[in-house]
Amino acid sequence: MAAAQEAAGSSAAYSVAMPLAVESELDALAGVLGSARDVLVLTGAGMSTDSGIPDYRGPDGERRVTPVQYHEFVRSADMRRRYWARAFVGWRRFATVEANAGHDAIARLQTVGALGAVITQNVDGLHQAAGTRDVVELHGTLAMVVCLACGAPSRRASLDARTRELNPHFAPGDRELRPDGDIELAEGDVARFVVPPCPSCGSDLLKPDVVFFGESVPKPRVTACCRLTDAADALLVLGSSLRVYSGYRFVRRAAERGIPVAIVTRGPSRGDPVATVRLDAALGQVLPALADRLAA
Ligand SMILES: [Zn+2]
Repeated sequence: MAAAQEAAGSSAAYSVAMPLAVESELDALAGVLGSARDVLVLTGAGMSTDSGIPDYRGPDGERRVTPVQYHEFVRSADMRRRYWARAFVGWRRFATVEANAGHDAIARLQTVGALGAVITQNVDGLHQAAGTRDVVELHGTLAMVVCLACGAPSRRASLDARTRELNPHFAPGDRELRPDGDIELAEGDVARFVVPPCPSCGSDLLKPDVVFFGESVPKPRVTACCRLTDAADALLVLGSSLRVYSGYRFVRRAAERGIPVAIVTRGPSRGDPVATVRLDAALGQVLPALADRLAA
């Protein structure tokens, strides 16, 4: 994608002219991570902005778009039609988004053993696309769909194919992509959109396999992440303001255990008071430089 290429180009330019303050902060970060045996990574929306996926929140931490609420989605067939119509259009773009220099650097650091498992709050699958293993998708994945009536899972790509068959003339054109793969559409476009039923039971209660706002992360997933936190020697937080409790709880847990917490993100983060190392810098700049230090 053009956006990813632009981002890769700009990060290369940054690393040439990196300010001295950032160099010394990078040394501190590399020191903390280099002396830990098992570094757990927690990533948020800031990880994927260089891939062309916008953040829900700006650098000031304020929310810029209103996400879909779980209870509205479950209660209202109109809301589900609106969601799937917009998601159908958004998927055209979302399916072509590629991993960026930051994702690549994490995969490289993991390969040499400098980083361990990755808990991500992102639903875009870009860590796995870059070759990173042991990824826990805390908020699920847009690549899968689940039926709320019968529980059957299915692939988003197959839902997309069935949606196209049912809506052969649905082509509202290019719109702005949102962080959840959603897109803005006119009311008329939404009204004529046909949502495919569940392939197993015929219900219209299909939902992307992602944790919506107002919904809880499944317990077994939280337990798995707590175990990872308890086994780690350090926690590295990348691209998250930690405003959402589902990710913040692992930072609190790490701090309670007394292990170092390193945070690299643009703007303020809720974990700042417990951070051992704190960098307010671009991930496309910091992560490749970190890989050069620790994975050379
Ligand atoms: Zn079903």
